[in-house]
Amino acid sequence: MATKLISPPLSCPWVTSREVIIKGLPRRRREWMVTKRNRVSAVTAMIVEPLSVVSSSAIQIHQWWEQNPNSLLLMTEATGGYSLASYYTSLGLFVISVPGLWSLIKRSVKSKIVRKTFVVNDVKKEPKQVAGEILSFFTRKNFNITDRGETITFEGKMVPSRGQAALLTFCTCISLASVGLVLTITVPDFGNNWFFIILLSPLAGVYYWKKASRKEEIKVKMMVGSKGRLDEIVVQGDDVQVEEMRKELQLNEKGMVYVKDARGLTHFLEHMVFKGSKLYLDRSEKKSDDSDSSRASLSSSSSTKTLVSLLHIVLHEPLCIIFIFFSRKALASMAVKCFSLYLILAAIVIGGVTSEYIEYNTKPRIVPEKINVHLVPHSHDDVGWLKTVDQYYGACVQNVLDSVIASLLDDENRKFIYVEMAFFQRWWRQQSNAKKVKVKKLVDSGQLEFINGGMCMHDEATPHYIDMIDQTTLGHQFIKTEFGQVPRVGWQIDPFGHSAVQAYLLGAEFGFDSLFFARIDYQDRAKRLREKTLEVIWQGSKSLGSSSQIFTGVFPRHYDPPEGFTFEINDVSAPIQDDPLLFDYNVQERVNDFVAAALAQVNVTRTNHIMWLMGTDFRYQYAYSWFRQIDKFIHYVNKDGRLNVLYSTPSIYTDAKYAANESWPLKTDDFFPYADKPNAYWTGYFTSRPAFKKYVRDLSGYYLAARQLEFLRGRDSSGPTTDMLADALAIAQHHDAVSGTQRQHVAADYALRLSMGYLQAEKLVASSLSFLSAAKSSTEKKNPGTKFQQCPLLNISYCPASEARLLSGKSLVVVVYNSLGWKREEVVRVPVSSENVIVKDASGKEVVFQLLPLSEIALRIRNEYVKAYLGRSPRDTAKHVLAFTASVPPLGFSSYVISDTGRTARGLSASYVTSGSMNQNVEVGQGNLKLRYSEEGVKITRHLSTKNQVTAEQSYAYYIGSNGTDKDPQASGAYVFRPDGVLPIKSKEEAQLTIVQGPLFDEVHQELNSWISQITRVYKGKNHAEIEFTIGPIPADDGISKEIITKLTTTMKTNGTFYTDSNGRDFIKRIRDFRTDWDLQVYQPVAGNYYPLNLGIYMQDKTSELSVLVDRAVGGSSLENGQIELMLHRRMQHDDIRGVGEILNETVCLPEGCKGLTIQGKFYVQIDKPGDGAKWRRTFGQEIYSPLLIAFTEQEGDSWINSHKTTFSAFEPSYSLPKNVALLTLQELENGEVLLRLAHLFEVLTCPLYAFPPLIMCYSYVLFVMAKVELKKLFHNKKIREVKETSLSGNQEKAEMEKRRLIWKVEGSAGEEVKRGEAVDAEKLVVELVPMEIRTLLIKFDDQIEMVGDKEQQHRL
Ligand SMILES: [Zn+2]
Repeated sequence: MATKLISPPLSCPWVTSREVIIKGLPRRRREWMVTKRNRVSAVTAMIVEPLSVVSSSAIQIHQWWEQNPNSLLLMTEATGGYSLASYYTSLGLFVISVPGLWSLIKRSVKSKIVRKTFVVNDVKKEPKQVAGEILSFFTRKNFNITDRGETITFEGKMVPSRGQAALLTFCTCISLASVGLVLTITVPDFGNNWFFIILLSPLAGVYYWKKASRKEEIKVKMMVGSKGRLDEIVVQGDDVQVEEMRKELQLNEKGMVYVKDARGLTHFLEHMVFKGSKLYLDRSEKKSDDSDSSRASLSSSSSTKTLVSLLHIVLHEPLCIIFIFFSRKALASMAVKCFSLYLILAAIVIGGVTSEYIEYNTKPRIVPEKINVHLVPHSHDDVGWLKTVDQYYGACVQNVLDSVIASLLDDENRKFIYVEMAFFQRWWRQQSNAKKVKVKKLVDSGQLEFINGGMCMHDEATPHYIDMIDQTTLGHQFIKTEFGQVPRVGWQIDPFGHSAVQAYLLGAEFGFDSLFFARIDYQDRAKRLREKTLEVIWQGSKSLGSSSQIFTGVFPRHYDPPEGFTFEINDVSAPIQDDPLLFDYNVQERVNDFVAAALAQVNVTRTNHIMWLMGTDFRYQYAYSWFRQIDKFIHYVNKDGRLNVLYSTPSIYTDAKYAANESWPLKTDDFFPYADKPNAYWTGYFTSRPAFKKYVRDLSGYYLAARQLEFLRGRDSSGPTTDMLADALAIAQHHDAVSGTQRQHVAADYALRLSMGYLQAEKLVASSLSFLSAAKSSTEKKNPGTKFQQCPLLNISYCPASEARLLSGKSLVVVVYNSLGWKREEVVRVPVSSENVIVKDASGKEVVFQLLPLSEIALRIRNEYVKAYLGRSPRDTAKHVLAFTASVPPLGFSSYVISDTGRTARGLSASYVTSGSMNQNVEVGQGNLKLRYSEEGVKITRHLSTKNQVTAEQSYAYYIGSNGTDKDPQASGAYVFRPDGVLPIKSKEEAQLTIVQGPLFDEVHQELNSWISQITRVYKGKNHAEIEFTIGPIPADDGISKEIITKLTTTMKTNGTFYTDSNGRDFIKRIRDFRTDWDLQVYQPVAGNYYPLNLGIYMQDKTSELSVLVDRAVGGSSLENGQIELMLHRRMQHDDIRGVGEILNETVCLPEGCKGLTIQGKFYVQIDKPGDGAKWRRTFGQEIYSPLLIAFTEQEGDSWINSHKTTFSAFEPSYSLPKNVALLTLQELENGEVLLRLAHLFEVLTCPLYAFPPLIMCYSYVLFVMAKVELKKLFHNKKIREVKETSLSGNQEKAEMEKRRLIWKVEGSAGEEVKRGEAVDAEKLVVELVPMEIRTLLIKFDDQIEMVGDKEQQHRL
């Protein structure tokens, strides 16, 4: 979404820039427009007017003569012969003109040596840089350096040009004709034979040809002042060369004000006359003649002087001739004819023939021995940002696709890549069949290539890897179904930093051959440009190593073309004008620009292939504008011969890089955090819009469960499906969606789509549970009667289903579904309005429960937010939360019954609610985990052994978001985190605590101030503390941007090291103020150490390990040893000038008015012995992602329980997945096949050296080795007919994919080879998974054809 340039509004008024401020650009644009206008008028005036003067004066003379036959000058007409007066006048004029001819011939072979002193326009330029530019200018023109002393001397050899020789011959011919004419009058006896002297004219050409070859010498001296600044440059040499250098380097002659294009006419004629002449020696010629490599060919002559002489002939001599002709009666009519002929000839010569059709050769393919410039036409279309996805589609993207397709059909050599399937799908369904056939041909021929191919270009910091896989799979399946294609290239050009998971999982495991993007840290880029390491082999996973690596290319600049090569209608770049009748004829100039820009890129890239991205945000709405220019550049630059330019795609480019057989540097870890300037770390968006981030995460887990239930019931395309939720979730992964960097109304649009998707999925879940719980009789199965209700607002304690007063005799049935592959026991909480309740399991046995009071804060939020979401206040008044432990089998459900007994709860199950204050040393907790309280928050102590105990002190604080300073206006905003101080948040000493203690868990409610409160919990039998925070509305009246953090402080000696996850999967080692790839210059010690968290963060020392897991994407860091912090919420006062143009200030509105958004969330803290934390992080992390799904129904007595299936597991009884394996996807596809993804959750680990005794410590590492899953037990009542292993997105067979995989060479050691799980044996049906491996299987069952039938049910259940 963001480009460097300010995009013109065009017809799509919502494209602006994320990097808006590029100083000077608007000014430059203005200048260009002004000078362009000036140039036209100047040229018009100077060329058209003299000619019209000639012709109009001729007419005037003619009229005058007709009216005044006796006039002195023309009286000869009447008397015969000619007037002597006019004759001598003409002769005199003619004599004056002859030296012009002579001077023209003489000067054509000489150069005019000038000495000029220049000053540099751009004062910021270093002398070194200017020297480099001068060097590059002359070497490009094939000059050699002969002296490198104080004065640099360049030497080159000039060769004659045929065009110049011909021109001289022509001019001489005209001139001699005039001489002939005068002589016929002067010496009439010889008659018209005088005209034979024109036969001498070729001699002028011969003279030129013989003498023009000469040496040119240019001397350059740079005067550097006392402060190391470049004062002036003295240049001596040929006038033309010096002038060209001045223009290219934008130098000013000392003491002169340079008026751009003051030489308008000369300039114009120069192009007209010399457009066909060869300015430079061909590279190929040069190559063939090494001994003559010093030979250079310069500009064909000192064209300016030539032009003056030429003008002399063109304008002056005809006047003479006219006078003569009019003086001689017999020749009068011939004179008019001759003059017309002369004008035509002049037009032909000057104008370079007339305008005509040019066929551009756009065919070129790669030429191995040349520098190849791959031009890749593309449009970056954000799936929502400043406008919603549909608004962008309607206003911009359908223009793009319509006009691109038309342009591609026009020329079979043109190519285009398309990326965002959310848009392409919208467009595709609106096309006629005839059009679809044509487009399919374009795709088959490679003219239109889908790359990346997900529904959107997902963000890489804030999405969970499962969402990234799902959204890409959705797009890939569309491409496969409609076009039978498999995308080959990852294209993440805009996301703000790049994750390891993107490289290895969303890249290599999709079978991509390469991955490209633009945004990396500015310091990193500078180093990579210097060292030519923009292109690397990236091994994103240390567990999978080289088995999952990918060729990765970082663009040398942004994802737009080099400056001066953008061609949308309102863009400022000069188009190639190759029609000689147009005034801005500029072919050679533009070719030179192109070559210069390409050579600059060659300097920072390995191999002789470079890629230019021809396009940027929402471009190609008028695709002709781009394609026409690209056609011309390919045609003319190839004609020029210095480069080979071609229409290309990233796939073609990748193949070319591969064919070069080069070794590439190795890259591990990732590209976070991203900064584009010293004070601009894009680490604020890790937390921006925390409520939306949580909504996306909640629905992601729900979607996973809903797909399982859809499969277990049997997909029914006519009924509710998960498709809508899939679509909404996919779009929500866009890099301006879950990232929180869109405008408010766009965020609302994403949320609306998600809620609509949820409603569909909710119906599906209800009907599936109803189906699965129905009794055995087939009539009941076909029309299962149970109506299940669910409570999406359970997070704010709102659940009409459970709150409804349990009428006497009626009870509430709670069905709890577990989408994990292992058995789970977990506390379930539901709001109830009665305190006289008991809970029984399906067998009628009472279970232990706790009844808790709803805190005042919880009630306030419940009332306000229910009203805000639903437009009405909650009907019932929930007073309590009922909590009980549900025990649920893998991939199955259990049922519980809540009923009203009419009497108060028994002592055993009751909670003890007391209150205390901070200073009373309140302590809760069981076993070796204790919580104590202070004004800052909670102190969590874990006793790891009698001698080893660790305490983490939790506290809150907020960063003051910078408003920008005088030196740097960068403010903290939606993207950027730029803190300007930090303030602690403390409660009052006497603040009250509410302490709840019971048989299942203890919890303490604590209010730190009017806008931060929290509940801390410890569960029986669990070793982690759960912290549920409520933050908001963040006060904004003081005009201060606030970014709220919580910290955990210990005395651990962590030595600057901590670990954060990559999209919820691998953990990556981070070292404070350090980057693996370059020497970090620290300007932002806080923001520059922030990393995105999706699963969590941990740190270790020799005696302990502290892990924190999160419930959504947040930013986090460890800014001091032994300390961890999370950013939980942000409310800003400024926009951070990255294009969104709106302040991140989320509010919630009620009829009474709007106030800042309050968020609720949880994080989890556990302290372990070193090395033990992974087990908790991995398995509990999966439980956070996939919470238990709860549905409610009512029954009379025990009617429902007695007549329904109350527990269920899809697995064979007693089978469960190993604890190190998660079931990522179980989904029935539209074609009836079943998509199964299994993931090993653990990373490969080596036993830590300090583990003692090592054998016992490492014994627990059994989770870090290969895992096995038995498919027969997974689908124990179904017959598996076929299992096919595929790529991660299921769009190609794995074996085929591996066969096609490019094997890249890596500089140095490529790392150990990793052994993957064996292929699945059709008989045994066991899936092996090595650490961090994900395997994707397409399964066909024997009962696949029947969707919902008795036979199938028997198989299934
Ligand atoms: Zn974008």
